[in-house]
Amino acid sequence: MGNFDGEDHWMELHGVGVGRGIAVGPILRMPDPLPEPDAASHSGDAAAEFARVEESLSAVSAELAAKGAKAGGDAQAVLEAASMMAQDPTLTDDVRARIDSGTTGERAVFEAFSAFQEILIGMGGYMAERATDLGDVAQRIIAHLRGVPAPGVPTSDTPFILVAPDLAPADTALLDLDKVLGLITRDGGPTSHTAILARAKSIPAIVGVTGALDLADGTVVVLDAPAGLVTADPADALVADANSRVAARAAASTIPIVDGALADGTKVPLLANVGSPKDGPGAVELGAEGVGLFRTEFLFLDSKTAPTVAEQQAKYTELLSYFPGKKVVVRALDAGADKPLAFLNSAHEENPALGLRGLRALRASEQILLDQLTALKGAQDATEADLWVMAPMVADAEETKYFVKLGKTLGLKTVGVMAEVPSLAVMADQVLAAADFVSIGTNDLTQYTLAADRMLGSVASYQDPWHPAVLRLVKLLGDAGAAAGKGVGICGEAAADPQLAVVLVGLGATTLSMTPAALADVRAELAEVTLEQARAKAAAALAASDAASARRAAASA
Ligand code: PEP
Ligand code: MG
Repeated sequence: MGNFDGEDHWMELHGVGVGRGIAVGPILRMPDPLPEPDAASHSGDAAAEFARVEESLSAVSAELAAKGAKAGGDAQAVLEAASMMAQDPTLTDDVRARIDSGTTGERAVFEAFSAFQEILIGMGGYMAERATDLGDVAQRIIAHLRGVPAPGVPTSDTPFILVAPDLAPADTALLDLDKVLGLITRDGGPTSHTAILARAKSIPAIVGVTGALDLADGTVVVLDAPAGLVTADPADALVADANSRVAARAAASTIPIVDGALADGTKVPLLANVGSPKDGPGAVELGAEGVGLFRTEFLFLDSKTAPTVAEQQAKYTELLSYFPGKKVVVRALDAGADKPLAFLNSAHEENPALGLRGLRALRASEQILLDQLTALKGAQDATEADLWVMAPMVADAEETKYFVKLGKTLGLKTVGVMAEVPSLAVMADQVLAAADFVSIGTNDLTQYTLAADRMLGSVASYQDPWHPAVLRLVKLLGDAGAAAGKGVGICGEAAADPQLAVVLVGLGATTLSMTPAALADVRAELAEVTLEQARAKAAAALAASDAASARRAAASA
């Protein structure tokens, strides 16, 4: 809290910014959740009470699935997962048991879903992030049972910035983008659904903002996502500055789509990160020059058994068919830690991020890897796209040689590895001698370099790819790539930060891959600098002592 100039009282709140957006406007808060159902008993007819609940479960499930079909894209996957929660057999059995012992339907739903939420929270990471989704489904079922509207996003005739404890997928997916200028949530980390969907829809957002719910409806705020800063009751000068940044962003998004290049003409192909073949057409529309990362595990997160070769080949062929003559980099299944797959990760691990994940898990279940590479070879032969295949979580040149040999033996043309583990970057010269290319996953590379769990809010400040330690590893890889004459791409979130994208190119990155919504901002920023300037910015950032000073040094170099 501070006093800006005697007249204007402003207050700053901090959180984790999502994307590059800026928004200015009055806030509206999400209405409070439904009151907790009383711990009362039903009339005695348990079968009738359960039948009533069953009807609500299927109505809510169908409603969520229908909203998903309407929304499409990432939102559809999220809403379909929520729809399945409403029909989950374990939860339904628990609700039935509680009704059988006399509890009302409303209370039974509340208790069963809350108990399951506790379990998810206890599991931490990705699972804990899903607890919010489950809470939202419970609210919808209870509202249906009571015959009242489900709590949701407030409506207004004029644009506003939405403030909420957290947003459920159903809320985020269906936001009216003409009215909602931005999002501020008290809870949630960089991987919560609010963050994922806000990024995909280019909604300016800041999550994990302590004190957000103390803001009164109507308070004008400046939401500065790149700075992770909410300024309430801002001074006129700050509002004017923010409005000009909003206008500059809008202008950048309408400039004609050209291939990625620096001001001196140096080409920097801009590629898309996708999680499903369905993302292909949208990426092409936003000017993606190919795909830099297809996260294949996203196709199989709900599968109990390994997908067949034919099933996989059909999916890969579909994606490749959107990119004739273009590069498409497909990653072998990256199972484990934040993305567990039932058929690959069964053993309990104390530290799953340091466990049998990525290539390690595939090597331990080699048939699954052989099947995937065989399916990819089939897709390579069936389409005109230039298929590149890479392995996740590779530690050194020995693992690189193993994967490259396997891929080539099965007939794949271009085979490489991801640089996510610091040991791989340290051994960059050997790795680049063995692989056709390297793609740097800055999300994991940052997590392992700074020893900070990427899913854990309490250490989120360490998860900053601007840290010079991360940048020095990128430089080792960039130099080794240049010496070997091979490509070194970036496919982590860092590539979506325009200022950092420039620095990464200065460090030797030859391509940048990102969520398609980020392409316009990065394209515009690259066009402003020459390779010489990018290298000067990179040198300044490398010499800094921490992430914040690296960012400042690059800006003023
Ligand atoms: C990364 O780690 O940077 C990456 C691109 O992979 P994922 O985010 O899927 O782990
Ligand atoms: Mg990764």
